[in-house]
Amino acid sequence: MTDEKNKKNKDFAELLRESKLKVTAPRLRVLNEITQKDAAISQPDLEKIIGKDIDRVTLYRILSSFEEKGIVHKIFDLNGTATYAMCTSNCTENHHHDQHVHFICSICNSVYCLNEVSLPRINLPTRFTLHSLAINAVGLCSSCQKED
Ligand SMILES: [Zn+2]
Ligand SMILES: [Zn+2]
Repeated sequence: MTDEKNKKNKDFAELLRESKLKVTAPRLRVLNEITQKDAAISQPDLEKIIGKDIDRVTLYRILSSFEEKGIVHKIFDLNGTATYAMCTSNCTENHHHDQHVHFICSICNSVYCLNEVSLPRINLPTRFTLHSLAINAVGLCSSCQKED
C-alpha cells in the first residue's frame, strides 16, 4: 500500500494508545497477524495461527474492540465468514469510513481491500438513512488466474 495514512504503517503500540486501548501482548500479536498478508484474515484462520497463545473468547473480544475503535473493519467472504482488514486512518470510534470496494476471489475465497476503488455515491429514497454501503467484486485473484 502506498497510502501513508494507512493504519498498517503505524506503530501498533501507538495505534492502541491513540484508540484508548491498553497495550497488551495479545492485542499486538493480533495486529501483527492481521497485517501479515495483503488479504483480510478470518477469525478461524487467526485461531489456527495464534490459538495456542490466545483463547477464542479473548480473540473475539480483541477483534470486536478493534472494530469498535475503527482499527479494523469486517468483510464477509463468499461463505459468509467474517474476515478482518486494517482500516484507513479516517476511521474513528464507531464511525467507519472505509469507502472502498472489496474483491473476493471465487476460487481461494481471499478478500482484498481495494483502497484505490472508491464506492459510488448513491441516492436512497428519502425514507431511508444510509449508514454503510458495501460492494464486493467477485472474480479471480492474481495467483488463481495463473493456475488455470
Ligand atoms: Zn484466489
Ligand atoms: Zn477494506
